[in-house]
Amino acid sequence: MSLNKSMHPRNRYKDKPPDFSYLASKYPDFQQHVHTSLAGKPVVNFREPEAVRALTCTLLKEDFGLTIEIPLERLIPTVPLRLNYIHWVEDLIDGQKQPRRGIDIGTGASCIYPLLGATMNGWYFLATEVDDICFDYATKNVEQNNLSDLVKVVKVPQKTLLMDALKEETEIVYDFCMCNPPFFANQLEAKGVNSRNSRRPPPSSVNTGGVTEIMAEGGELEFVKRIIHDSLQLKKRLRWYSCMLGKKCSLAPLKEELRKQGVPKVTHTEFCQGRTMRWALAWSFYDDVTVPSPPNKKRKLEKARKPLSFTLAEPGLKELQARASAVGCTSSSPVDGVTALLEKTLTDLRVLHKRVPCRKQEQSLFLTAVENTWIHGRQKRREQRRQLRELPRAPHCAGTSSQTAGTPPPSQSQPTSTNSSSQDSNAENETTPSNEPVKEVTPDTTGEQKELPESGTGEDVDMESSTCAEPGQEADPQEAVAAASEAPSKRPLSPGTVEHFLFKCLLNVMLEESDVVIEMHWVEGQNKDLMNQLCTYLKNTLLKSVAKS
Ligand code: SAH
Repeated sequence: MSLNKSMHPRNRYKDKPPDFSYLASKYPDFQQHVHTSLAGKPVVNFREPEAVRALTCTLLKEDFGLTIEIPLERLIPTVPLRLNYIHWVEDLIDGQKQPRRGIDIGTGASCIYPLLGATMNGWYFLATEVDDICFDYATKNVEQNNLSDLVKVVKVPQKTLLMDALKEETEIVYDFCMCNPPFFANQLEAKGVNSRNSRRPPPSSVNTGGVTEIMAEGGELEFVKRIIHDSLQLKKRLRWYSCMLGKKCSLAPLKEELRKQGVPKVTHTEFCQGRTMRWALAWSFYDDVTVPSPPNKKRKLEKARKPLSFTLAEPGLKELQARASAVGCTSSSPVDGVTALLEKTLTDLRVLHKRVPCRKQEQSLFLTAVENTWIHGRQKRREQRRQLRELPRAPHCAGTSSQTAGTPPPSQSQPTSTNSSSQDSNAENETTPSNEPVKEVTPDTTGEQKELPESGTGEDVDMESSTCAEPGQEADPQEAVAAASEAPSKRPLSPGTVEHFLFKCLLNVMLEESDVVIEMHWVEGQNKDLMNQLCTYLKNTLLKSVAKS
């Protein structure tokens, strides 16, 4: 299952996160950086540069047969995000498995793009670097992997981008250039001042870059503008020019610059892993190039279809089973136990629910929420005061007031874990906009720690932050609607027959290997954020006991 919003479809880590346990057992250097999380899963602390470096070197070794050395005081790349860019370049030049010629501007100590491009696709590279330490390491990394025939590392002066690197070779047409530019304009920006909303938390992993690596005069915007201006002179000497961007706000001015200069072909994409977002821009002076479409439209459609989900890891299930017995569940199946606990919570919340037919070893509940009983107590009181002001004499309606009947909903659940970080932001400070303080982390497919939003905030809830399953794998929600309205409910109001509701959804509880996965599929209603809030509330309620045990 993938937690990654926009990993490239060919990225080997997209649906197959690195197996930390396996890697730890095979690589002692990596093993010392692997810990066990509260939920019993192996995790890596991405705030430690040593740990990030160990993971990068281990993945390069295990999955690409590459042996590299990187100093801690220089930028430590992370593999999954670098692979996204390589795959996007493949799309641009149609260059998978074909010998092509590229330039990597600022290759870094790792020389990661040329090493990956040469190993995966047999590409030739001219790799440039200004920093002495980076140049020395990059040269050594190429040599020790026997890739000197494909990769040439050159030392260039600071003011140079493409022009000087190419001045000796007037004949060769390069298929592409790529660049991960120094992101920051100054020390303050490098520390995160001014670069983000003040409510956002600091970067979740360490920034290891050296001064020339992460800072350039004017930041990445000026750096990329300089590449654009070189490209206006070099034009068809390269088929595609491309750049990675650490800040979304760089994209629009750079596209505007390209438009002003009359560059005929321009496209962009975005890469995301866990909390780390990156953007990439590409432009060409050739009319016959295939231009991959930007991701927006596709993403919006996917977003609308995908269920919300969360996982209860095996080690915590025993405790949940004990709680389920306490509420009268006699089955020993973890799916039944979790379902019983969910039913109890839903009853407490007065969310109408009934079981509907589903596949063996799964449970499916059809939910109809008629009132919002899961929002934060304070928020709820505020809302009630507002309602009282506006409707002083309005009578309470059965089933629609959160204060008139039944058990009051349980209070907001507590955090279960805050060991959160993002694998690819060691030197890459920009992360996806965060919501409220984080409650739970789930490893995503890159082995990163994915942060999930706090329950019941009612704001900024990112549907995409949840795990997604392939559409069509589960029971059709519409069938479930029919099923739900056929059988009468034991409750006074039947989920299928309620006329006024906030939303309806289908909740599936499934076993996946030894874990239990809960998915919520939208059926209909006012606002999907409400389902997102309820999903987070249910997750936190279940995980609360796991964290305590
Ligand atoms: N490509 C590597 C490193 C990116 S950091 C990676 O993705 O991990 C940016 C790199 O650009 C640094 O190593 C920095 O030293 C180098 N650099 C800065 N200005 C440069 C210039 N004008 N020409 C070439 N390299 C430059």
